Amino acid sequence: MQMLENYIGGKLVEPIQGKYIDNVEPATGKIYSQIPDSTAEDLEQAVEAATKAQPAWAGLSLEERATILTKVANTIDDHSNELAKAEAVDNGKPFSLAKSVDIYRSSANIRFFAQAITQFSSESHAMGNDAINYTLRDPIGVVGCISPWNLPLYLFTWKIAPALAAGNTVIAKPSEITPMTAYLFSKICIEAGLPAGVLNILHGTGPSIGDPLTTHPKIKAISFTGGTATGAHISKVTAGMFKKLSLELGGKNPTLVFADCDFEDTVDNVVRAAFANQGQICLCGSRIYIERPIYDKFKQAFIDKVKALKIGDPLDNSTQHGALVSKPHMDKVLSYIELARQEGGRVLTGGKQTTVNGRCQNGYFVEPTVIEGLDNDCRTNQEEIFGPVCTIMPFDTDEEAVSLANGTQYGLASSVWTSDLKRAHQVAKDIEAGIVWINCWLLRDLRTPFGGVKSSGVGREGGLEALRFFTEPKNVCIKYS
Ligand code: NAD
Repeated sequence: MQMLENYIGGKLVEPIQGKYIDNVEPATGKIYSQIPDSTAEDLEQAVEAATKAQPAWAGLSLEERATILTKVANTIDDHSNELAKAEAVDNGKPFSLAKSVDIYRSSANIRFFAQAITQFSSESHAMGNDAINYTLRDPIGVVGCISPWNLPLYLFTWKIAPALAAGNTVIAKPSEITPMTAYLFSKICIEAGLPAGVLNILHGTGPSIGDPLTTHPKIKAISFTGGTATGAHISKVTAGMFKKLSLELGGKNPTLVFADCDFEDTVDNVVRAAFANQGQICLCGSRIYIERPIYDKFKQAFIDKVKALKIGDPLDNSTQHGALVSKPHMDKVLSYIELARQEGGRVLTGGKQTTVNGRCQNGYFVEPTVIEGLDNDCRTNQEEIFGPVCTIMPFDTDEEAVSLANGTQYGLASSVWTSDLKRAHQVAKDIEAGIVWINCWLLRDLRTPFGGVKSSGVGREGGLEALRFFTEPKNVCIKYS
């Protein structure tokens, strides 16, 4: 049994109250580690360490900060196999996905922001012959970063990298369901020589450490990624405290397949978009709308490919579909499949829990599931399931496709599959979402804004948007005479 520790003031430390939470490997159902059940007392120590470290960290030149952060990124790469294995064990995702996406993008995030900050210049404006003004971008101070379980290290680094690059010190809280890579990252920071107190990592649950973190008066900004209900809770408990909030929340993303798409390529990618990471990516396309002339043909090809996905031990290199992250989450996903049946849906493939022989026989595996015959307004099509479940439905016109796509409270991501350039641009303009992919999915340019509209969030991460969020602008106006 491995006992995890918090990372405060540059050291690995036990939680002050000595309480721990069990951590389960989802592919086996076995408890394999324990994590600190941190409280407000641990937070006070972290705030003290972060406050003490901040002036010196912000006082480094941009190049010095970039050098240290790049060393952290390189150290991630040095440990990429160990980290990918830890992610697969902790989360249930296939090792191959963890290695090629999660861990690869984690070091890329840090490397990107280490460089981006060196290019982040102040704006200046000449005011004729009278005056000039310029805008400084100061670090905020101590900031909080809270991340979810689906892409544990990837989303953790997506937040802390711009925060640190901009000269803030950070108190980060990874999900209590997938704490392992954040714990290993503490060791990486020590190995890479990140100065003490610059990053502090506290493990634990929302009520025990999340609430104290978001409401702490010395933490002036919170960058949160997680469920819409938790985002609403954070907005409520911080109301009146005038904190900066960035909220990246849930999705119910539409996939629009037009009859003029590149058929084979589209089928492959729509399968990937629906079921990557067992459908547990906020960007997964869980509502698939298909233009009627190709509906039957697409449906058959899609189902054939879904049935061929290899379900297995996440540590097996050939596995394409691993375990769901926890028993409660699996039960939630299965209850949505049952709801879909009650709402009149026909399960075309999948629809139940499945077992994987050997060491994974008690794991939380659910078959990739495709459902048809549901109205757009039913709960199955309106609520985020966040699992390997998608619905398919025909449409007749571009207007109808857009209206179906926009017909939920969410607006995170979408993908459009067509060879008609005019249609692609028109649909992209009309879709209510923060991200529209045309003939691709999950392609990521770190310079671009990332986030959602409607109940999918407030604010944007990525590129300049993240650096703007983690800095305070200060305008200085100088009169010549
Ligand atoms: P969650 O909201 O339950 O938890 C997210 C994080 O918030 C965890 O670290 C959790 O411990 C913490 N938390 C819980 N209660 C808290 C509280 N009261 N105060 C402060 N922190 C608290 O979400 P989850 O189940 O871990 O993640 C799945 C959700 O995340 C899905 O809805 C998914 O769509 C969303 N998500 C969104 C994005 C995006 O970029 N928009 C990316 C990934 C995941």
